[in-house]
Amino acid sequence: MAKKYQNYIDGAWSDSASGRTFENRNPANWDEVIGTFPLSNKADVDRAVAAARKAFESWRLVPAPKRGDILKKVGDLLTQKKEEIARLMTREMGKVLLETRGDVQEGIDTAYYAASEGRRLFGHTVPSELPNKFNMAIRVPIGVAAIITPWNFPMAIPTWKIFPALVCGNTVVFKPASDTPATATSLMEILTEAGVPKGVVNLVHGGGTEVGMALVEHPDVDLVSFTGSTSVGKKISELASRTLKRVSLELGGKNAQIVMDDANLDLALEGVLWGAFGTTGQRCTATSRLILHEKVYDRFLSMVVDKAKKLKLGDGLKEDVDVGPCVNEKQLATVEEYVKIGVQEGAVVVAGGKRASGDGLAKGWFHEPTILADVTPSMRVAREEIFGPVLSVIKVKSLEEAIEVANNTQYGLSSSIYTQDINNAYRAIRDIRAGITYVNAPTIGAEAHMPFGGVKETGNGHREGGWTVYDFYTEWKTVYVDYSGQLQRAQIDNAEN
Ligand code: NAD
Repeated sequence: MAKKYQNYIDGAWSDSASGRTFENRNPANWDEVIGTFPLSNKADVDRAVAAARKAFESWRLVPAPKRGDILKKVGDLLTQKKEEIARLMTREMGKVLLETRGDVQEGIDTAYYAASEGRRLFGHTVPSELPNKFNMAIRVPIGVAAIITPWNFPMAIPTWKIFPALVCGNTVVFKPASDTPATATSLMEILTEAGVPKGVVNLVHGGGTEVGMALVEHPDVDLVSFTGSTSVGKKISELASRTLKRVSLELGGKNAQIVMDDANLDLALEGVLWGAFGTTGQRCTATSRLILHEKVYDRFLSMVVDKAKKLKLGDGLKEDVDVGPCVNEKQLATVEEYVKIGVQEGAVVVAGGKRASGDGLAKGWFHEPTILADVTPSMRVAREEIFGPVLSVIKVKSLEEAIEVANNTQYGLSSSIYTQDINNAYRAIRDIRAGITYVNAPTIGAEAHMPFGGVKETGNGHREGGWTVYDFYTEWKTVYVDYSGQLQRAQIDNAEN
């Protein structure tokens, strides 16, 4: 019998108000049901938001270092349970164990960073223009944060949002992706075990329309932090603007790796394979385009094709597997569709190109690691996010052209250049329109203590990670303390006449 999971609202585990449920299955073997989960609706959201609103009044008064101490405990528990959670994550969304361990590790790093931030949360003191007066600006918590997350980093992304929200003194209602509700439940269990008080974090499972939109529209939700597709991000932005909520959006990407003629090709090869086919290409920072200098085009392309064909597809729980399945049937169909579009547009399939078959693959959503050569910058496969194991290869004549091609998309998340020439590297850093640029490293590999986010339609200007996310989860309060014992009027009493 599949395990029955529940929502976590106001310190208690409960079924959905409707009593309805949904199933979550292993994408590498659809016969395996991971569990059944509550299919929640507005009634569950209302209850969770009410609990979070109530808990905010006491949580905001807990000293930030004490809130940080709880997050330290969360980091310790995640460390203890790292392997168990990684295995569950692989079963529910398919990426290989090496990567799901990394996903949990990112949560651990984020927990310890947040714990220490409880002892900083720096404000400013600034001299007053008047005598005997003290000015400062301090950070204050905002209220209830709705956290809506995708399935590709089921632990890391929720922790990027929930941990800073909590250490800043906000309370949380968390709606995870319905493809990864079990990992989300593990995180919730750890938060409660670590001592997060009742009502401070709440978990509501269910669909984007019923649960996600109900949260975004809710008048008692103050903040929305969303990671997902650009199309849903736009809807959320519109809806949230009606109640003037603060919204952080981390959206799609179409990331490019540039390889110049002077690059270390062996290094660039390792980078592009990891960037394009790691997480089965289902990363917002995945390398979706390879922009190759014409002088190394043929040689480097054949090196990549050769290696890509040798990647082993299969169940991510097996240590010798390189690439897992797509997360679900719909994602696999999208990948197949894009390969078809690419071919119709004139691209040439030089590796993979179809749904995978073979031993152990019959009951999973597997697609062969695929390389499309002779792609031109205007093709849809050069501009649109595919979110699967497909790499589009584009030939260029110069650095200038490489950068122009890299910028030729609505997105601007990650980017990479392989070159030994420091001048090329700095020009790329300056001119590529993306939130992240790697030099001699692939487009993936964010570190938890650095800002993370993108430009253009990848987001709305906020950053996760590092110190920058703390700006999102706090409001500035400006404080003037006048100890002169008399009325002092700014701009008037200190003016010459
Ligand atoms: P998605 O937009 O379909 O769903 C993301 C989340 O939003 C899910 O929890 C979903 O249930 C919910 N949702 C769906 N419709 C909603 C609505 N109308 N209102 C409120 N919530 C709604 O994305 P996905 O398929 O889960 O994830 C893949 C996408 O996420 C890709 O585009 C990828 O690039 C992006 N992504 C971005 C980043 C980043 O940091 N920039 C990181 C990971 C993934």
